[in-house]
Amino acid sequence: MTPALEAIDLTRSYQLEGLSVDALKGVSLAIDQGEFAAIIGPSGSGKSTLMHLLGCLDRPTSGVLRINGVEMAGLADNDLAELRNRTIGFVFQSFHLLARTSALENVALPLVYRGLGRTERLAKARAALDAVGLGHRLDHRPSQMSGGEQQRVAIARALVGEPKVLLADEPTGNLDTRNGEEVMRILDRLNSESGVAVVLVTHEPEVAAHARRQIHVRDGLIESDTGTTPKTGRGGEGA
Ligand code: ADP
Repeated sequence: MTPALEAIDLTRSYQLEGLSVDALKGVSLAIDQGEFAAIIGPSGSGKSTLMHLLGCLDRPTSGVLRINGVEMAGLADNDLAELRNRTIGFVFQSFHLLARTSALENVALPLVYRGLGRTERLAKARAALDAVGLGHRLDHRPSQMSGGEQQRVAIARALVGEPKVLLADEPTGNLDTRNGEEVMRILDRLNSESGVAVVLVTHEPEVAAHARRQIHVRDGLIESDTGTTPKTGRGGEGA
């Protein structure tokens, strides 16, 4: 099956006051359809840079990136934006919701770009909010919700367009332990039930442990990758 995301020898250098910072130094990885992977590493290791590239929010300095089998380099900016809109949903540490807008309208918004009518947009948004356990909060604005609820709205918004991949950048970074656990449980369930691949970036090992695959990044390189093989059946786990 075509991987959802495929990176081959990606590099990304930033030019800063005449100096070149090599944030990624040659990263290769494939994220299969339906996977649940965590990218973990210390601050400055290149996680956000990698996430932005995987999400087509940035272009690599060199290397190949394929989104659902389509090579990024060959696409003009507007075609890339359309591919991104159809294929990838984003969740950010700080939610990025419209503050004065109801949960329902926040979630329905991305569907405007799909050319769907208002009735259909709202019906899909309602179903997405139901899926994150917020069917009773449709008319609430973000300011009337807890951080955990706001992140669940953001997850519903990321999934309403039925993407292949959900990219989550430190999704529990602004939440207390209990709300963070709840958000991770929802991501886990959505991954199992809807088959959307989930890739999350974190510096917290406890958060990364929720994923079925851990990709450790350090100094712009992949240091280790537990791979896609299920954890069971590798032996050494005792009877
Ligand atoms: P992480 O997400 O793991 O904290 P980043 O991908 O943000 O790491 O950063 C990797 C390296 O690239 C760091 O040394 C950082 O300072 C540098 N960097 C990131 N973004 C920029 C930028 N826009 N301009 C210059 N340097 C950057």
